[in-house]
Amino acid sequence: MYNQTAYEMGASGCTIRELAAFGNMRAQIVGAENVFDFTIGNPSTPTPQIIEDTIRAVLADMDSLKLHSYTSAAGDLATRQAIADDLNRRFHTDAKPEELFLGCGTSPELAAVFRALAQPGSEILTLAPFFPEYAPFVEGAGSKLVVVPAKYPDFQIDPQAVADSITENTVAIIVNSPANPTGVVYTRQSLEALAAVLTQKSAEHGHPIYIVADEPYRELTYGAEVTFIPHVYKDTIVCYSYSKSLSLAGERLGYIYVPAFAADSKDLYTAISGAARAIGHICAPSLWQKVIARCASAQPDVSEYDRNRRTMYESLTAMGYEMPYPDGAFYLFVKAPEGDANAFLERAKKKDLLVVPGDGFGCPEYFRLCYCVSHDKILRSLPIFESLMKETR
Ligand code: PLP
Repeated sequence: MYNQTAYEMGASGCTIRELAAFGNMRAQIVGAENVFDFTIGNPSTPTPQIIEDTIRAVLADMDSLKLHSYTSAAGDLATRQAIADDLNRRFHTDAKPEELFLGCGTSPELAAVFRALAQPGSEILTLAPFFPEYAPFVEGAGSKLVVVPAKYPDFQIDPQAVADSITENTVAIIVNSPANPTGVVYTRQSLEALAAVLTQKSAEHGHPIYIVADEPYRELTYGAEVTFIPHVYKDTIVCYSYSKSLSLAGERLGYIYVPAFAADSKDLYTAISGAARAIGHICAPSLWQKVIARCASAQPDVSEYDRNRRTMYESLTAMGYEMPYPDGAFYLFVKAPEGDANAFLERAKKKDLLVVPGDGFGCPEYFRLCYCVSHDKILRSLPIFESLMKETR
């Protein structure tokens, strides 16, 4: 006997994994350098030097630091204080360690937050296109994921569509900016319009509707302002991760920030701790907590991503591809010339070029490209994109 829902979640195919298997098979035949795999959002820039140096220093100080011991469930006080100091310096907040809960990246953080918010019949909104893992996180927590249609062609927030999707059961909306899969950064104006809708609807329904800000890409931007969402809407819970910003995706560290000014903040924080406990959270990796305690203000060098982004955006738009302007993260979300991303993928696979069709993200006419690949590979892929476009004319 086993749980049928869990079985179905485990058995359902993961498109990116299947494409990776196809890419590996083709690499055996044509050579890895001739497979143009734009599917996986695995950071390709090195971890900043200060992180590398700090981990060595921390390892050298192993005994005095109790490096491999449990920490408290919320995380070491010194680490939370260092993160609070960094937030306060950069965003002029008044964050305190007791408002921070260290987690193992935004995936389990979101899963805990959704559990902490779940009520009988509760609904959580997400803006299309969205990170597909939101569905198992929200549904696994006992709520329904409600998809708010995308706003074309700029993929900013459509406040009216959000208003129309809210019911008395709505407890939260997920906001992911910079966004996966579009690379779009929501403007302050978009976020203010969203905040106005949520404030009005919270009053109408007599309970707060939280923003759950999923922020693994906060620092991956190329000049655009990334609004710190608690400044625009007080009932915000921030889920942060060092996976992408510091190229530490396999190390699993991040934090949840429940600002003191958010509605029911203390009880909500306690509920998040309880929900984390229910999914087996003991503490975030101790060694990485010690590293971040010493360099919480480390920032990524985004110049390589920026070069890739500009080359791809400029070249593809010149060929006639359409996409929203990619201000952040490391993705482009491109309209398939034939209007069907799966048909585009089938043509692209014949030329050993791999993209992720947008149906899993809630936008089947588009496909996602991740430009975490070498610049040389990007340059060599351009004639293939050109020929794929020409085939449709
Ligand atoms: N949210 C978004 C939008 C993502 O793209 C990802 C990873 O790709 C995650 C959350 C999960 O990141 P992690 O659990 O590594 O912090």
